[in-house]
Amino acid sequence: MLFSRTLLAATALTAVTATAKADEVNLYSYRQPELIQPLLDAFTEETGIKTNVAFLNKGMVERLLAEGDRSPADVILTVDISRLAGAVEAGVTQPLESDVLTANIPAEFRDPDNQWFGVTTRARIVYASKDRVSPEDVTTYEDLADPKWKGRICTRSGTHAYTLALVSAMIEHHGAEATKTWLEGVKANLARKPQGNDRAQVKAIWAGECDISLGNTYYMGKMLEDEEQQEWANSVNVLFPVFEGAGTHVNVSGVALTKSAPNRDNAVKLIEFLASPKAQEIYAEANYEYPVGPETQPSEIVAGWGSFDADGVNMMDLAAHRAEALKLVEEVDFDG
Ligand code: FE
Repeated sequence: MLFSRTLLAATALTAVTATAKADEVNLYSYRQPELIQPLLDAFTEETGIKTNVAFLNKGMVERLLAEGDRSPADVILTVDISRLAGAVEAGVTQPLESDVLTANIPAEFRDPDNQWFGVTTRARIVYASKDRVSPEDVTTYEDLADPKWKGRICTRSGTHAYTLALVSAMIEHHGAEATKTWLEGVKANLARKPQGNDRAQVKAIWAGECDISLGNTYYMGKMLEDEEQQEWANSVNVLFPVFEGAGTHVNVSGVALTKSAPNRDNAVKLIEFLASPKAQEIYAEANYEYPVGPETQPSEIVAGWGSFDADGVNMMDLAAHRAEALKLVEEVDFDG
């Protein structure tokens, strides 16, 4: 009896040391390798801690739930507030009290319960044809339902996370009924069925299929880096619509400590590093996102698109409206 208990304890300890190596940290990431590698390289250089990343397209929460306490993941990285809130809701994260994070991330971009932390923001803006749209004609998100845009708008799917966050913000500002009417109005103005990613809409403007599209800010920078896409980018202006009486819609990319976190200490170091001025600078320069850190400025290219007032809607309220937003998008058959 005594022997078997000792054996069990020894086995358990071996299992722990097998996953928790002093010099490693494991990530599950929805963010692309080319984006986060420069950040992870800088982290390893500074701390000597090696990073292992599993890049996933979907099913991160399901995987963490299936792995349970045995999950090797320490940190999750993703875009979109409802994905961050969804992971918290599923119980696969744990809170992290950190003075470093409190100091480096403004309160509106981190969870009040310290379960998730925003590390960048992005605005969802209008790309508008330089030839066919005068910038002052793009004013509010509400105005996108005006018949003056009939047959002139391109967008990606209504069920994509980026669209749903915008629809959630509309619900927060105007309620579900008005949002449904707005979605019907925007749908009636579409030049074609929703399809493709944000860059594909700019290509469509360049090709003359439509005059304006919705897209995230950083794609402008990404397109300018690409020989073929440069032409698309140069055919449009970046314009910052607002919600009536409020600001421009923003969403976050963020990070959370997993519940299992076998390398917890290293994970905390990594999360704190991502919020540090050094990492914030890399995010700003390499991916054209807006840093959350108060000490870090957007890149010169990004600053050149102009400044804007961010919509004051609380991130948690956006996440809370996601299910209703999806329901409305389906009810109006936005993609149909
Ligand atoms: Fe994106």
